[in-house]
Amino acid sequence: MSNFEEFALSRRVQQAIDDMGFEEPSPIQAACIPLILEGRDVIGQAQTGTGKTAAFGIPIVEAATTEPRVQALVLTPTRELAIQVAGEFRKIAKYKRVRTLPIYGGQSIGHQIRGLQQGVQVVIGTPGRVLDHIRRGTLKLGQVRTVVLDEADEMLDMGFIEDIEAILRETPVERQTLLFSATFPPEVRRLASRYMRDPEHVTINRGEMTVPLTEQVYYRVLERNKLESLCRIIDSEEIALGIIFCRTKRGVDELAEALLARGYLVDALHGDLSQAQRDRVMKRFRNGDIELLVATDVAARGLDIDNVTHVVNYDMPQHPESYVHRIGRTGRAGRRGLAITLVTPREFKLLKQIQRETKAAMVSREVPSLADVAERQAEIWRDRIIEAIQDGGLGHYRAMLGNIFDEHDPIDVACAALKLAAAGEMQGYEDSDYDFGDTGATPGMVRFFVNVGRASRISPADLVRAISDESGVPRQAIGKIDIFDRFTFIEVEEESAPFVYEALRQSRINGARVNLEPAKPRSRVR
Ligand code: ADP
Ligand code: MG
Repeated sequence: MSNFEEFALSRRVQQAIDDMGFEEPSPIQAACIPLILEGRDVIGQAQTGTGKTAAFGIPIVEAATTEPRVQALVLTPTRELAIQVAGEFRKIAKYKRVRTLPIYGGQSIGHQIRGLQQGVQVVIGTPGRVLDHIRRGTLKLGQVRTVVLDEADEMLDMGFIEDIEAILRETPVERQTLLFSATFPPEVRRLASRYMRDPEHVTINRGEMTVPLTEQVYYRVLERNKLESLCRIIDSEEIALGIIFCRTKRGVDELAEALLARGYLVDALHGDLSQAQRDRVMKRFRNGDIELLVATDVAARGLDIDNVTHVVNYDMPQHPESYVHRIGRTGRAGRRGLAITLVTPREFKLLKQIQRETKAAMVSREVPSLADVAERQAEIWRDRIIEAIQDGGLGHYRAMLGNIFDEHDPIDVACAALKLAAAGEMQGYEDSDYDFGDTGATPGMVRFFVNVGRASRISPADLVRAISDESGVPRQAIGKIDIFDRFTFIEVEEESAPFVYEALRQSRINGARVNLEPAKPRSRVR
């Protein structure tokens, strides 16, 4: 099994990766990082959620110097992705003076211009806004070493090809070009052959695997109340001995702590523990002193225990092999086991890929109700705050606030403090809240605009079927459909909306290219 140390990264970058809690490179990272470090052009093809960002982020940060010029440009299809990618870069560059700036439409251009003037080494942006800055002369790409086309298939589907080509023309011909994509349709192939030099094509293998005869279920959850969803699920199961998988060492520690705080019998297992610590944890697990073991893939690999009743994928496995490995921990020796997977909107496509490649029969189950879960989580925080007030001893914190109230509303201050405190438990992306705004929908629903209608020979029944198949939401979650010649409005229950949005914002129905987006309130037809 490979290890990040094998890439012989500088101490600063290696340390940052350790801090992120990554134990070992994902397959796409293991294959791409050495090639990118060598300076090769690389095409990286792997499903969403497989770690493509760090696959290019690590070598780019490694190669970056502190010289104040744009050295790398990453193009992403959406604002959300630009923010996410920038966040990941910032973590990788934690100990290096390499500055990252996301630039995207919708944010004040003046703010971005000031950011760019401060000397940025890595720019991450959406094609339209990047081009806008180039034309204003506020972004100069003449010294760029590396250009990344992230989610290339999606960018092309969104019609960005001309913008991308115009941007590439502004960069040096001897640049390194990296292209990442979940799929490799002809348009992407064309782009690669025109703009890349002898690229190495890395595909994460899709060999077929068989999964043990374990019952498999999945729950659709939102990132921000994943922990609460997990608790609900655990409470509804008779778990004698369970293993909960997280992606990172940090994730393991945080989740184990959060579960302990809620009174579960838990311990944590990951690669940073000494052999003696591991032995102690394992002994407690075998003796039944703990009922749940939170672990990383690496740590669990060597485990030899055969009375595990439940395997829970708190974080999705990053590839089908890992799914197979994980769930192989239960249902051994003829015993019945249950494998539970939590899937967030962005990960749904990865789940479908795993299902396809492993031919796993995963059945969807509903968490008590995401709204219930969210309210329960809020309740817990309110209780904790009240408890802290009753416990007293707040003088020190009062002093820390200084004269903040002279200029800020006390309620804003309380909200901001809570945001900081709760952030650790609401891991995940800044955009994971999915605020669709006012879409002109019936209360409790979100209304989407879809660019296909009767002219594409699509009936409401086709749409309902396609939406339900692609996003995993039950058909009953889909409400009113107003179909027109060239477009359709569809209402979806609020808690299913993020899944519908992620699965269908760029997709195909009956071969027709589909674009789905939140509807504008004024487009309501009466
Ligand atoms: P993709 O771009 O392929 O959709 P991301 O780069 O967004 O995937 O990665 C998905 C998640 O996996 C992120 O939360 C990221 O921090 C995490 N991740 C990436 N690489 C690793 C790794 N080697 N070990 C653990 N977690 C990882
Ligand atoms: Mg990505």
